[in-house]
Amino acid sequence: CNGWRRRTRAPSRPSLYVVQITPELAAVAKVGGLADVVFGLSRELAIRGNHVEIILPKYASMRYDQIFELQEVYKDLWVPWYDGAIHCTVFFGFVHDRKCFFIEPHSPDNFFNRGSIYGFKDDVLRYAFFSRAAMEFLWKSGKHPDIIHCHDWQTALVPVFLYEFYQSLGMTHPRVCLTIHNFAHQGVTGVELLHATGLHRPERFFDPTRMADNRHPKALNLLKGGIVYANFVTTVSPRYAFETKDQGQGFGLEPTLHTHHIKYGGVVNGIDYDIWNPEIDRHIPVHYGVDSVDGKYDNKRALRHRLMLADNDKPIVAFIGRLDPQKGLDLVRHAIFYTLERGAQFVLLGSSPDDRINGDFWGLKQMLNESPDCHLEIGFDEDLSHLIYAGADMMLVPSRFEPCGLTQLISLRYGTIPVVRAIGGLADTVFDKDFSDRPLHARNGYVFQDYDNAGLESALGRAIACYRNHPDHFRELMKNAMRSDYSWNVPGQDYLNIYDYIRDA
Ligand code: ADP
Repeated sequence: CNGWRRRTRAPSRPSLYVVQITPELAAVAKVGGLADVVFGLSRELAIRGNHVEIILPKYASMRYDQIFELQEVYKDLWVPWYDGAIHCTVFFGFVHDRKCFFIEPHSPDNFFNRGSIYGFKDDVLRYAFFSRAAMEFLWKSGKHPDIIHCHDWQTALVPVFLYEFYQSLGMTHPRVCLTIHNFAHQGVTGVELLHATGLHRPERFFDPTRMADNRHPKALNLLKGGIVYANFVTTVSPRYAFETKDQGQGFGLEPTLHTHHIKYGGVVNGIDYDIWNPEIDRHIPVHYGVDSVDGKYDNKRALRHRLMLADNDKPIVAFIGRLDPQKGLDLVRHAIFYTLERGAQFVLLGSSPDDRINGDFWGLKQMLNESPDCHLEIGFDEDLSHLIYAGADMMLVPSRFEPCGLTQLISLRYGTIPVVRAIGGLADTVFDKDFSDRPLHARNGYVFQDYDNAGLESALGRAIACYRNHPDHFRELMKNAMRSDYSWNVPGQDYLNIYDYIRDA
């Protein structure tokens, strides 16, 4: 079942026509790492000569300044919905050279004409509609991609629609790859979905081998439907693939993954080194690379200046991420106090859609307001995130679970030493300076196992001590980190292998 892991693609293989159907895309509609992955993978596939198109909803909240040559290309798309159909317009535009189609429905539901991307009671219906609309658009416009790549529960109905409706209408060519970026969200819903989408036949879809939720058999599970119907299912690291299938991290989908293990695998995400690269990053004041690491300290000064932190000889420990319990928020909180106690500085950049969590961190911010060694920035700020990656010395990622994690990969590129918990993609990409069995030059950070304060302190304490007592060792570690290659090169090849594998199957 690992046949797809062949590394090189035979030169005789033709280039592929790949359509990504996605709820998020970096630069225009980003909530988390999914947005970066769709953008980065699409770019890599295009660089390798494949034809790539991206379909996403036309959100009112998108960054329209990042979309070029936006124009209407399909006026009369009627998408079946309940007993009628909803009229949609399809727009085309370029997002940093990527070819994108944006679907805009016209109905009183106002599916995408809202203040934010997620967080609404009808989210399941909104994305069921989008999935149906994307398929209807492909069919009506006569597009026959070799591969349709969909992402997370939001577009997991795509293969269900393909094989239940569109195959018999002549769409026999495409194969579907579903990538699951996080098993915590699955789109669990009621029978209404079947009425809305025209799938009807509850006896068929509530069958446990199709879409019945494993925990609540009277509910439907969109992500499960995607796993059952897709030709291949990936998640975003091999370790997370194992944890979700065999270690109880699948949020109820473990038996489904077991049944379909033959078409399930993990591919570590890449990052886009045109964007995340301290040698060319437009957001940072001084460029630096593995042969000029001292430039990092100019960025450290700039970061301190921007956040009004004291300029001293202390290391800066940072945290960047969604303030979600998944990210280990109680350990983050502990780390702030521990870091200050150990004579280091702490910088946090994060926000949550949950006002209560934001409120907790605002409270903490007020409590630490007087400290010249601590700054908590509660909000989403891409520009500031670049300066933190460049200016901090260590990046803390103490997640409860982490499918892949991009923060540690970005940090590595900036020579910012990751201090992480050994789970999911973190375990696949960060290797402990003192305890890893990897050769010395391949060690690139600090790792702890147990989700508790002692575990966190064991790794963070060693990192701070090394910075202070063995600066030469710390510098070597920074260089190892900066030499790690987490570009899209290898994962791009892995996905092409998967695409070839399912086309041949
Ligand atoms: P997830 O997908 O679970 O949110 P990842 O580590 O895969 O986590 O991806 C997080 C991405 O979002 C990274 O690119 C990170 O820099 C960015 N990010 C997270 N929170 C913020 C924030 N508050 N401001 C700016 N960027 C953020």
